[in-house]
Formats: sequence, structure tokens, C-alpha cells
Amino acid sequence: MRGGELAGFAVKSLIAVRDRIARAAESAGRDPDWITLIAVSKTHPVSAIQQAYDAGHRDFGESRLQELLPKWEALPKDIRWHFIGTLQSNKAKRAAQLGVVIHTIEGAHQLREIGKGAPPEGLDGLIEVNTTGEHQKSGISPIALDELVSEVLNYPNVRLRGLMTLGHAHRNAEEQRPFFRMLRELNEAMGGTWLSMGMSNDFEVAIQEGSTHVRVGTAIFGERTQA
Ligand SMILES: *Cc1c(COP(=O)(O)O)cnc(C)c1O
Repeated sequence: MRGGELAGFAVKSLIAVRDRIARAAESAGRDPDWITLIAVSKTHPVSAIQQAYDAGHRDFGESRLQELLPKWEALPKDIRWHFIGTLQSNKAKRAAQLGVVIHTIEGAHQLREIGKGAPPEGLDGLIEVNTTGEHQKSGISPIALDELVSEVLNYPNVRLRGLMTLGHAHRNAEEQRPFFRMLRELNEAMGGTWLSMGMSNDFEVAIQEGSTHVRVGTAIFGERTQA
């Protein structure tokens, strides 16, 4: 892309999203400082991320390892990268070696690979839960959660912070509320503190339901042209 114009737009949108987060938090009686905005930069160029970085932003989200790797190489090392896509076991070790926050732990085999790659000082991880019960959806079933939680305890270099979920593919923001609430209750039951939920279309509802990490792409960087 031709730098300035598009990227400048991203910065303005970033400020607008931060403002909406602050208002949603305040209306829910929550401190906005406890909510991390993950700018989901998948499909968007390094130059757009650099602009957001220059504006002071540090948390970015990517969903494919082959896209994350070159961005990780090219951009400043104090970026906190969040891996939010389906993570196949054969890529899990490499992703963990980068020291990224992994939001999509969902199985014992994958977890073993994450454990192999995670740095000795530890890596933050969240388990992805399929709260909506849609068949094609990634994440583990709520009934399988306890077992995976105890698995994670076998890996001292994987710090289980909490849970992540995606809303229902075909519902509006308000209709996501029961799924977000379910995730919060599951998280409280296991003693988690991070709740990764809420995207461009529903992050305000997610914040009302206790989200600590909202993952926002389109509302910051614009529509994606690729998948
Ligand atoms: C792409 C993606 C997002 C961001 O979605 P937007 O609707 O563009 O905000 C959030 N979470 C996950 C897991 C994603 O894959």
C-alpha cells in the first residue's frame, strides 16, 4: 500500500476505539486500565503496524504463524504479540519460541509442543473455549475444560492466565452476551484473571461482561481484503 494515508487512518481509528473502550468500561463501573486493546493486524502491512506503534500502541494480534514470523522479524522487539488463530501442533513449538501470548490453547498434544518451545522465564497462555457449541468452531468444549486446565499445570513454563472465546458467527452484539458471561463464569471457577473476548462488532458488550483483552481488527485497520 501507499503508506501515509491508510496508516494515518488507522491511528485515528485506534484513538476512537480506545475512547469507546474507556466509555464502555466506565459505564460498567470498571477501570479502563485493566482492559488491553489487542490491535488485530492480520492481513495488514508492517507499515500500518509501525504507525500504530509510533502512536504508542504495543499489543498486536496475528492469527497465522507464517504471517507473524516476518512481522515479528521486521518490527520492534518490545511489541507484545498475541497469537489468536488456530494453532496446529506442528507450529505450536515455533510460535511459543517467539514468546508470544497464546490465546488458543485447545488440546493436550498442542500443549506439549507449546511447552517445548516456551522460554524458561515462561509464556502467557489462555485456553480457547467453544462457548457457542457451533460445530466448525475451534476451542474446547466447556465440559473438557477442567481436564485441560490440569494438563497445563504439568508445564511450569506455561502460565495459564485465563480463557478466550469467539462470539457466535451469526449473532449480533447483544446476542453474544450469554456466551461472554459463560466464559467469565468458567474463568472464575478455574481462578483465571484474563478474559480474552470481544471483537470489532461486540467489544463493548464483552467489556460489560468482564473482558480484559479485546481483539479488534476491522475497527482499527479497516476491512480486510483477504480472509
Ligand atoms: C480476526 C480476528 C479478530 C478481529 O476481528 P475484527 O472483527 O476484525 O475486529 C479477533 N479475534 C480473532 C480470533 C480473529 O481471528
